Amino acid sequence: MKELVVATRNRGKIIELQALLGSLVDNIICAADLADFPDTVEDGATFEENALKKAREASAFTGLPALADDSGLTVAALDGRPGVFSARFAGEGAGDNANNDRLLQELQGFSVDARQAAFVCVLAFVTPLGLEQTFAGRVAGQILEKPRGSGGFGYDPLFLVEGFDCSMAELEIEQKNRISHRGQAFRQFRKYLAQIG
Ligand code: IMP
Repeated sequence: MKELVVATRNRGKIIELQALLGSLVDNIICAADLADFPDTVEDGATFEENALKKAREASAFTGLPALADDSGLTVAALDGRPGVFSARFAGEGAGDNANNDRLLQELQGFSVDARQAAFVCVLAFVTPLGLEQTFAGRVAGQILEKPRGSGGFGYDPLFLVEGFDCSMAELEIEQKNRISHRGQAFRQFRKYLAQIG
């Protein structure tokens, strides 16, 4: 594929996406680099609704195929929160540290077994001709009582990866992409792109 617009302003995600898409796309255009790129109002009830909305708006704005992801953390003991509110768990415009503090606060006193969580990612691919396709990935883990590691972004330092003795923030980017929710969704997307050419 020649050109693909990636509809995210999140630099952490962009770095991961470039590593994941690399050879399949000649020119990855980041929404963050386009003047006047519209901010999508993420008011969907699900990751899928939000991802599709972002990809549709990006494709309509640029006239190019667009890819958007909506992702977040779901915590069983919090009835699935923060979910689609992951980026603004501690309030509109909150940063990673504030969101992480809020998570720790809400889980205070919860035993290790009650700290089950998952990262979820839904990717939406939309073309100007109206083709729409979504891909989902999920990785299970547990919320730690204090942060570990300095890699990744968002809730990574608080997420103990199931089957690993480390947090998501202690993995190299290649390792993270191999197992992560985003990595899983991307591998499906890559397969799909290879099929449609
Ligand atoms: P989105 O940009 O609306 O998809 O919001 C995603 C939010 O979910 C991020 O701001 C993080 O708080 C969280 N999140 C999604 N993926 C990850 C990840 O791979 N690691 C850590 N946090 C993540």
